[in-house]
Amino acid sequence: MKVNHNFANIAQSYLFSTIAQKVADYTAAHPDAPVIRMGIGDVTLPLPQASIDAMHAAVDELSHQESFRGYGPEQGYDFLKDAIQAYYASHGTQLESDEIFVSDGAKSDVGNILDLFDQDNTVLVPDPVYPVYVDTNTMAGRKILYMDANESNGFLPLPDPAVKADIIYLCSPNNPTGAVYDRAGLKAWVDYALANQAVILFDAAYECFVADENLPRSIFEIEGAKKCAIEFCSFSKTAGFTGTRCGYTVVPLELEFEGMNLNKMWLRRQTTKFNGVAYIVQRGAAAVFTEEGVKQVQEHLDYYRENARILADAMDELGIWYTGGKNSPYIWLKCPNGMESWEFFDYLLENANVVGTPGAGFGENGKNFFRLTAFGDRDKTKEAVERIKKLLS
Ligand SMILES: *Cc1c(COP(=O)(O)O)cnc(C)c1O
Repeated sequence: MKVNHNFANIAQSYLFSTIAQKVADYTAAHPDAPVIRMGIGDVTLPLPQASIDAMHAAVDELSHQESFRGYGPEQGYDFLKDAIQAYYASHGTQLESDEIFVSDGAKSDVGNILDLFDQDNTVLVPDPVYPVYVDTNTMAGRKILYMDANESNGFLPLPDPAVKADIIYLCSPNNPTGAVYDRAGLKAWVDYALANQAVILFDAAYECFVADENLPRSIFEIEGAKKCAIEFCSFSKTAGFTGTRCGYTVVPLELEFEGMNLNKMWLRRQTTKFNGVAYIVQRGAAAVFTEEGVKQVQEHLDYYRENARILADAMDELGIWYTGGKNSPYIWLKCPNGMESWEFFDYLLENANVVGTPGAGFGENGKNFFRLTAFGDRDKTKEAVERIKKLLS
């Protein structure tokens, strides 16, 4: 037996374990310190009531022989795909039902999609980056190139015609930087991909945070994208499904490379290796698009958006450079006084009892940056902001 030795090349991520250890050490030494955690990228508000009601009803359906359901379609039930299709149409993007694949979340699909691509492809990711894009390709032994996301391009790198890549990862609104591409930026990437016969893997996990009507929520708002892009989306950040698990991937019917149709390949891949998302969960996800569901989700998003605004206002007041905060639940700030991100982490923990995420954990270009999230409690966010302002002004 020969193992996949590529696993030995995956960088160990010490980011969240180091944060947890540092916080544990600090609270052990200062048991009464009122530590506020603004670091983890998980939601805190409960599921929308519409989803809860729909899931309860689905459990009841499964409890009677007449309405029991076993295996469902691997690609998802029509009631959910129709709702996703209508959601895209409401933002001006027409999708065929066969282009939508329901999954157990964006993270799995972002990894699983690599089954469609040869090992001999060059991958292009931004630095800083959501680590899943790098680790999944390292496991497969692919060559990875990095593009510079930095202060001068607002953490929104554009294609460099001199760099030849085959598989390009874009995440907008971005985790960790909160930066959002405008149409011109995404068009530059679509044009590059079409010219280079490359594929764009577009992570739209945070599209629901886009409030500015001029910013794209989907790469398919850009002409030509259906010939070069796959889009991943999720109910995790939209509707609090991080633990419930449901997402979807859009693979256009027109997506063809070397005489192979990627939509048909993905269908084959999913029907072979995946047996669908739980009926109960799909009912809960579909309820997100009902009239009450939309209203409840908006209330949750508004709550997080207001937290983001409170954080962004504090940065404005302090004169700290940042991206995100608008159209995104993340604030990506430049550490003050030239501090490095772990140094700033310690400084903030010890002097303000506030925990954030050091940018160094997302790549070299994050070395002097720091991520705060808007997914927390309102009063704690306000309290954290007061402490940060007091410390840094
Ligand atoms: C949270 C997140 C996801 C969503 O993952 P799920 O598996 O659907 O929970 C995808 N991409 C990024 C960048 C994320 O931050």
